[in-house]
Formats: sequence, structure tokens, C-alpha cells
Amino acid sequence: MSDIDCLVIGAGVVGLAVARELALAGREVVIAEAADRIGTQTSARNSEVIHAGIYYPPGSLKARVCVEGRKRLYAYLQERGLPHKTCGKLIVATSESQKPALETIMARARASGVDTLRWLSGAEAKAMEPEVRCEIALLSPKTGVVDSHALMLSLLGECEAAGGSLALNTPITGWRRDGDGFLVDFGGDDPASYTVRMAVNAAGHGAPRLLGLLEGFPAAHVPAQHYAKGNYFALTGRQPFSHLVYPVPEAAGLGIHATIDMGGRVKFGPDVEWVQSDQDLIVDPARAERFYAAIRTYWPALPDGALVADYAGIRPKLHGPTEPMPDFRIDGPVVHGVPGLVNLLGIESPGLTSSLAIAALVAEALR
Ligand SMILES: Cc1cc2nc3c(=O)[nH]c(=O)nc-3n(C[C@H](O)[C@H](O)[C@H](O)COP(=O)(O)OP(=O)(O)OC[C@H]3O[C@@H](n4cnc5c(N)ncnc54)[C@H](O)[C@@H]3O)c2cc1C
Repeated sequence: MSDIDCLVIGAGVVGLAVARELALAGREVVIAEAADRIGTQTSARNSEVIHAGIYYPPGSLKARVCVEGRKRLYAYLQERGLPHKTCGKLIVATSESQKPALETIMARARASGVDTLRWLSGAEAKAMEPEVRCEIALLSPKTGVVDSHALMLSLLGECEAAGGSLALNTPITGWRRDGDGFLVDFGGDDPASYTVRMAVNAAGHGAPRLLGLLEGFPAAHVPAQHYAKGNYFALTGRQPFSHLVYPVPEAAGLGIHATIDMGGRVKFGPDVEWVQSDQDLIVDPARAERFYAAIRTYWPALPDGALVADYAGIRPKLHGPTEPMPDFRIDGPVVHGVPGLVNLLGIESPGLTSSLAIAALVAEALR
């Protein structure tokens, strides 16, 4: 008998969704979180958008978990009355040359089973969003926003109600294979080592580093971690939009777009800034200049001085600036050969949208 049946490392939205799923399936779950609260890392530093699942290569894990996760998430939020809004979004082409990019999105969406996207002429887009300038646009009516903190509290509550427990201030500092399970070192104020039968590595940026500490784990399955910071600027003054407004996507992100949070506040971002550390979270106000330029391509009336440096999040990338963007990785025993272990790697956007679908796949990988 192990001390802990099932250990989930990391209490971000993905770790919490996994812990809830496993606890509801009857497993005895402990969540170990290095920080003093849940959801302080990437899960607190994103756009809080419920993505429709239209950008990703058809058949990819990202496409599948985003579409499935979006359906599960809306049902979850509706059933519990949790704060969210299906506000819809426009993806705008500001010149004819950008139209092929929208055609690619439309084709990918259809191939991924999302048949709700609609073409809008420039005039139709203007009727919906009078301040937006574009040649042509796509409307994604199923895109929405969610209060991610309310979601995470709900996931934790349901995990605990099903017998799971949460240990805060408890970083995993080392581990090794031990028979069919693991011997895990828990740090914090009261360090101790416990045997664990099954483990889910949901440590976000920390996941590859943590995996590198696992003695006896094949090095070929430990990816390099890269960091792409996404900076946000908040809009002061009048809020101009009622839908989310996105430009055509760029290489490592979705372009500097406008989102509206549950409080009605409009913010712009995230951009893409490759950085060396996941601690680099300060937004440089000097970046405002390129935000003004990017936003004015689709919102020419953006007033001078209206943008204020806000917050930043760091994408847990598995690729560098010149490499193609890889798929999400849910690496279970079938992939790496170590029984009782699932590693969640490169879970950047749309990880929030996909969290409930990822949780179901993790539970399946451990069955
Ligand atoms: C700028 C930006 C915008 C985004 N926008 C969206 C969006 O609009 N919609 C969407 O669907 N997705 C979005 N995402 C993606 C989404 O935010 C992430 O996929 C999701 O939050 C990842 O959750 P997580 O639980 O895997 O990681 P995290 O939230 O980072 O949680 C990992 C946890 O593990 C803990 N941890 C790390 N190491 C250890 C250790 N050794 N021991 C114990 N605990 C440890 C950390 O403290 C942390 O709490 C965005 C991401 C970024 C960066």
C-alpha cells in the first residue's frame, strides 16, 4: 500500500480539473501546490477566453480537447451558475491580403467539427461593431469568456467534496521510481517523503523541470522548456466593443486582440515576447507603442494615452521562436513506459478551455 494513491502536482486550472475528475472516479487524491494559493501562475494570467476550437490543425490533440473542452466547460458553468458570457468574437482581415488567413481558419474549423463560423462583409462587421475597420471578418458565436478563478474554486470544491485534499506551500523537490510507484520528496515548512502509487505532473512551466528530477525516467521524454511572455495593456475610458475582436493570428500567438472580462473591462493582448525565465512578469510600458500600432489597424479611433500597462502571462512553450508550434502532450505510460505517470506538457492556450477534456483523457490514461 502506498501512502498516497494518486498525487496531482500543481493546482492550476488543469491540475484542479484532473484532481476533480480522479476524485469523482473514486480515487484518493492529494494535490501538491508549491504556492500559497491555487491558480497563481498561468491560470491567473491569461485572457479567460472560452475558445471555439477553430485555429488548430484538424485531428490534433489541441483541436480535439478544445472543441470537447469547450462543450464540457459551457455545460459545467451553466449547470452551476458560474460567471461566464457567450459574447462571440470577430476575427478581422484589415486588407485583402489577409483574407487567405481567414479562409484557413474557416477550413480548419469545419474540419474540426465547428460549423458555427460565419462570414461577415465589412459592412456587416461594422453594423455589429461600429468602431471596427475591416475588409471582411469571421464571426465565431460560440466564443465566450469565463471567470477563471470562480471556475478553479468550483473544481477544488468538488474535488474536496469527493474526498480529495490540497496541500499548499508544498513543492515537489525530488522523486524517484519505487517499485510500480514513486517515492516523492515534499518540501515546504514540514518536508517529508511519501510513497505514491500514481502521479500526474500538471506543474505548468515547471513540468519539464520536475520531470528532469525524476530518477529513472527516460531522458528522451523530457522536453526543453521555452517561455513566450504575453503582455497585456488595459483600456482606460469608454469601452468600445461588445464582442471580442481578434486580428489574424501571428506566428506564436493569436495576435493583439481585444477581450472583455466578466466585469466589462476591455484589455488588449497578449503579444509575444520570448524570455529566459518564467519569473519575468513585469510589463514594459514602452511596449505600448507597438500595441497602439497593432490595434489601430482594426480600431483606428483608439485615443492617444488610453492604454495602461496591465499584467503578463508566460506561455509554457515546447518550441523556440524559429520552430513550428507543437501539439499539447498528454504523455502517459503508453508514451514513456513508466506505469502510473501522466505528464502534461506544453499546455498553453487553449488549456483553460480544454481543462475538463484534458482531465478526462488523463483519467483514461491512468485506468
Ligand atoms: C498569455 C496567455 C493567454 C492565454 N489565454 C488563454 C485563453 O484565453 N483561453 C484558454 O483556453 N487558454 C489560455 N491560455 C492558456 C491557459 O492559461 C493555460 O493553458 C492554463 O492556465 C494552464 O494551466 P495549468 O494548470 O497547466 O498551469 P498553471 O496554471 O501554470 O499551474 C501549474 C501549477 O503548478 C505549480 N507547480 C509548479 N512546479 C511545482 C512543483 N515542483 N511542486 C508543486 N507545484 C508546482 C505552480 O505553482 C502552478 O500553480 C493562455 C495562456 C497565456 C500564457
